[in-house]
Amino acid sequence: MPKLDDLIEELVTGNRILAREGVVDSFGHISVRHPDHPQRYLLSRSRAPDCIEKDDIMEFALDGTPIDAGGRAPYLERYIHGALYEARPDVISVVHNHSESVIPFGVTAAKIKPIFHMGASIGHEVPVWDSHDHFGDTALLVENMAMGRDLAKLIGSGGTALMRGHGATVAGRNIRHAVYVSVYLEVNARLQKQAMDMVADLGEVKYLHPGEVDKVAERTGSYGINRAWENWCRRAGRPLQADPG
Ligand SMILES: [Zn+2]
Repeated sequence: MPKLDDLIEELVTGNRILAREGVVDSFGHISVRHPDHPQRYLLSRSRAPDCIEKDDIMEFALDGTPIDAGGRAPYLERYIHGALYEARPDVISVVHNHSESVIPFGVTAAKIKPIFHMGASIGHEVPVWDSHDHFGDTALLVENMAMGRDLAKLIGSGGTALMRGHGATVAGRNIRHAVYVSVYLEVNARLQKQAMDMVADLGEVKYLHPGEVDKVAERTGSYGINRAWENWCRRAGRPLQADPG
């Protein structure tokens, strides 16, 4: 069971890495389920991820109610996190972002599919959630539990989803895993777009075979993720902690 202080440090590091690796900019966020109270989660106050410090981390009930706000303003889209923790006991960390390369895949018929071996972690299919289907004209933000639950339902037992005209959400088994998948979802989208641009002249894009995706996924554990994490900590100027699991 990770200690709360260590997990909060890890969450700050996750925020900084996502910013450094271009997955989030002034917007986007990462949360972790509370290690001692599974019906709560930890998430920063409303602040750009690259600026986040330990004291910004707040605790929320799954319905998005702050446990002790202490004058801090929460993110409007915190319901994404609570709805996923509510629906999925196996989910320990959630990333929501507006990473640029994924956006075109949410607004066209082109589907994101694993195109290289690091991209296998995004899963066989990345479904697209369209807020307009059930909620009509909105500001596109997931600003209540009904919208959060609708998104969680679309994600089902998967780990990734795009959000039409908005961004993406990733559900992970811990902070490092959620960050890892988020980084490679962005990289996969970028590379896939490059390959698709070449298709007209050079033939079809060869995506990973489903069996290859399964084999890579089986091998995506702490051995590989911690290697990336050490490198990303250094790039983000954050200390490397022992893996809190
Ligand atoms: Zn958003």
